[in-house]
Amino acid sequence: MGLVFVANKLAVPRSLGEWVKQIAHGDHASRAKMTEMIEMLYWLNKAKDLESKVKECIVCFQAGKNLHSVIPQNEKNKLPVTERPLELLQIDFFGPIIDEKGKKKQKLVCVDNHSK
Ligand SMILES: [Zn+2]
Repeated sequence: MGLVFVANKLAVPRSLGEWVKQIAHGDHASRAKMTEMIEMLYWLNKAKDLESKVKECIVCFQAGKNLHSVIPQNEKNKLPVTERPLELLQIDFFGPIIDEKGKKKQKLVCVDNHSK
């Protein structure tokens, strides 16, 4: 079996895509870190796949890695820098999530801004 390169990147067969994503996300790396880690690999819709991998990871969800502020982060709206845990908590609903019975549910998520 030969190697296939696309735009100077090694093409990953579809059958190995999930395994590669699993390895890259092994320590719950962010999408950006995963992209950097496997920069030399190519497959169709790679960026979208990596984003989905992080979004669908329950451990990342529970750690609040998938939360995005609805307030634009710029100088005017910048959150204050905290000096210790529990100084600033961000609380929001996440979902809908489909549970094991197929019902839509919302999760109340709380993230400590200091440890985020
Ligand atoms: Zn994860």
